[in-house]
Order: sequence, then structure tokens, then C-alpha cells
Amino acid sequence: MSTVFSGIDKPREACGVFGIYAPGAPTASMTSLGLLALQHRGQESAGIASSDGQTITVVKDLGLVTQVFDERRLSPLLGHLAIGHVRYSTTGSTTWENSQPLYRSAGPVGFALGHNGNLTNTAALIATHGLEVDASSDTDVVAALIAKCHDGDTTDGRGLERAVLEVLPQLEGAFTAVLMDDSRLIGVRDRFGFRPLCLGKLEQGWVLASETCALDIVGAHFVREVEPGEMVVIDAGGLRTVRAVEKVEPRLCVFEFVYFARPDSKLYGRTVYDVRYRMGEELANRAPVEADLVMPVPESGVPAAQGYAKASGVPYGEGLVKNRYVGRTFIAPEQGLRDRAIRLKLNPLVDRVKGRRLVVIDDSIVRGSTTRKIVALLRESGAAEVHLRISSPPYRWPCFFGMDTGRRSELVAASMEVGEICDYTGADSLAYLDLGGMLNATGIAEQGFCTACLSGEYPVEIDGDVRKDILELPRELSGGA
Ligand code: AMP
Repeated sequence: MSTVFSGIDKPREACGVFGIYAPGAPTASMTSLGLLALQHRGQESAGIASSDGQTITVVKDLGLVTQVFDERRLSPLLGHLAIGHVRYSTTGSTTWENSQPLYRSAGPVGFALGHNGNLTNTAALIATHGLEVDASSDTDVVAALIAKCHDGDTTDGRGLERAVLEVLPQLEGAFTAVLMDDSRLIGVRDRFGFRPLCLGKLEQGWVLASETCALDIVGAHFVREVEPGEMVVIDAGGLRTVRAVEKVEPRLCVFEFVYFARPDSKLYGRTVYDVRYRMGEELANRAPVEADLVMPVPESGVPAAQGYAKASGVPYGEGLVKNRYVGRTFIAPEQGLRDRAIRLKLNPLVDRVKGRRLVVIDDSIVRGSTTRKIVALLRESGAAEVHLRISSPPYRWPCFFGMDTGRRSELVAASMEVGEICDYTGADSLAYLDLGGMLNATGIAEQGFCTACLSGEYPVEIDGDVRKDILELPRELSGGA
């Protein structure tokens, strides 16, 4: 019997969105390139909606961007306007229906929507508005609500804009989205700006993307980030901006800097690689160790390991090689293979690690299962000592804003102290970068971050039912509560 399982038992991450308004340009092909650049934000499904000014056409499917889109599937997507989405579910299961962009009609007009984030008041929205939707996907709920608020008015063509302005203030949680009707592109961010969205300029138009790396790939130059609570509307008249919800202190997810975003992207004006490098430097200053080699867990730990090596003076080198072609999910036919799953992804450079004292750097430990396997692998390869250094604080609290890290009971640092986690992973020593050091490394600590997963301070009240389920500790760990 075959079992489908996550090869390395990791949490899931957020989604990526892209939008383009560029008459005369091959917008659908450019969107597929943008989605390729954002593939790290979601590998479950990919989709594009495009419009020629009359008709919206959507092509989407489960799989990677290169699996979903080839020339044949891009060919019907004609027009001057397109949005795209890559998904890794945070709410809702892996089904074709849940892949995005979603398409809805409101009277005679249609619209499409691609969302990155996770709402925290989905149930309340359904109840308040009497929506008839499958509550398994929060994006579905938003689409239904927009359709309900849409006046279907085509006289000035601004029905979608008005509907979004009515709906946005009612949404709680993380909502970064691109939307389109047949002739305009809209980008919005929730009031806290949990998930990123940037604006780029092309010679003949505009681009919206989750990360700047997607602007680079289509030759757009970065203009600015879309502000939290802002709606930008792009159409034949150019670009307009509307404050959709009142300004509050922004709360960009700090984990974007730690893990999510690509190192070549810029957030808050900082290159993510540089921030990760500085996190490594801070870590070396705060948690030094006598060792022969600083090595990263590829690829998430690379910039921080380089920073650690620079600041500590311990030589940098690779001790594990990553197979870039192993996805997150694969079929393992029997237990023996399953046990070796880690080797499909990471294989040690035995001659480099044998007999040496290693400092192994990674950006985070979430469930601890991968880290534990990595330590065992390095020991099997003859490492003399394995010292784990993590370039962010212990990950103790579930995310409700776009990252599916599961329940609290699944987070190793929720129930164990650092010493216990060290024992669990089998390392000789373990140290984390503290919150202050991590924010210091961003160089923009004053900009406003959501640190809920690390600090337990949620910027938004979490709905009772959601909280109960996801915050629960197993009985033995929660003292029977
Ligand atoms: P584990 O030891 O199982 O907690 O796995 C730790 C690894 O998970 C580190 O290499 C992290 O870079 C990676 N990681 C952190 N956050 C996520 C996430 N949201 N999705 C997938 N992997 C992650």
C-alpha cells in the first residue's frame, strides 16, 4: 500500500499573488514567470485569470507552475490584464475547487480573486451575512461577500471597487489580495499588512506581486510597497490609490524575513538576504562556540550561516547537499523508504563533517522532526560535535495569519525548554537568537512586525473556537487543562 505523506514533516506556508495591467504585453506569460518566482510561497496549486476587456478566462490546477502551465494552457489567456496565484493551503484542503484565482459573477459582471493570508472571522462573516458557501476556504467567503456587495453596475465600471471597499473593513486577520474584473486590476492589503504586496512599473503598465523577486523576473522596476489598509486600482486611466481601512501600526509577519520570503526580495526596503546574514552575525555574538566548521541547513540556513562564520571567524563550509528536485510531498511505498526520507532531500558530505566540531545553522525549528533527523545524519557521518544555532527565537505559538503550523501541541518549543529541545534533537548544544537580537538584525525594528509565533502577542483578537482548537496542548503537557 502506498502512503502519501509529507517527506519532511514540516508546516505549510503562505501563498503568492501576482497581478499585471499592461496593454500590448503578453500578460499571461508574464504572470506565469511571476508565479515561478513566487513558487517558494506555495507548491500546491497554480492559476491565472486574464481578461481581454470582455471576457475573463481562468486556468488553474493542482501542481507546480511548470506542471500547470505550458504554451498550450497559456494560449487561451489573452488580454491586457491578468492575475495569478500559487497556493499552499492554510484554510481548506488540497482540492481543485480551492485553487485560485477564484471566479465569481455579480449580475452581468464577473471578477477573479487571488488571496494570500488567513482570515480569523470567517464563521462570523458567514453568519452575519447569511452566506451560502462552503466554509472550508476563507477566500470563498470573501468572494461570496464581494459578490453580494457588488452592485453589478456597469455604468461607471467601478462596482468591484465599491464592493471591495465595503468588504475590506469587515475582514479580520490577514488579507493581501489581487482582484480583477474585465478591465481593472486591484490590489489590497489588510489594515496590519501581515503579508507583503509590492507595486512595480513596466514601460506599458503596472505589476503587483507578493515579493520584489517577481518584479525582477518580468522587468518591472520597484515603485513601493502597497500600504497596509490601502487599495490600488489600475485601469485605462492609470493608477489610483484609496485608503480602504484606517491606518494602524503595521504588522508585517517577521517570519517573512526569517523564512518565507526569497533572499533576493526586499521588504521594508531591506534585502532579505542581508537581514538573514545579520541575524547570523547577531547569533554568533550572542551564542559563540568553539568549532571547526560553520555549516548551514540548506537552503534556509545559508545566509545566517555565512553571517555567523564572518562574525565568529570559524570557517564556513557545506556539510549537507540538498536535492533540489524533491518536492514536499511524495509517495513512499514502504516504511524503510519512509525512514530514509530525509536522505532524499539532504545527503551529508561525509569527508567534510567526519571528526569535526560543527556549528549547524538553521533559521527556525518548528516541529523539530527535521532538525532531529539532521543531527542524527551528521552523527552517523562521524561528526565529533553538533552545535545547533537558530537565527530566530523559539517558535512557540501557532500562526493565524497565513502560515499553517498546526496546533500548539505540534510546536516543539511550546512544551519544551531550550535544554529539553537540545536533548530531543540530540545536539551537543542549542542556542536561539532572542527576539531583540532578531529585530535588531532587521535594522528596522521600529517599522512594526507581527511576532505572534515567537512572542504569543497576537495583534488581532482570535475567535474563540479557532483559538480553542489550535492553541490546545495535549493533556499531559497542559497539566490536564
Ligand atoms: P523541523 O525541525 O521539523 O521543525 O523543521 C525545521 C525546518 O523547517 C527549518 O529548516 C526551517 O527552515 C523549516 N521551516 C520553517 N518554517 C517553515 C514553514 N512554514 N514551512 C516549511 N518549512 C519551514
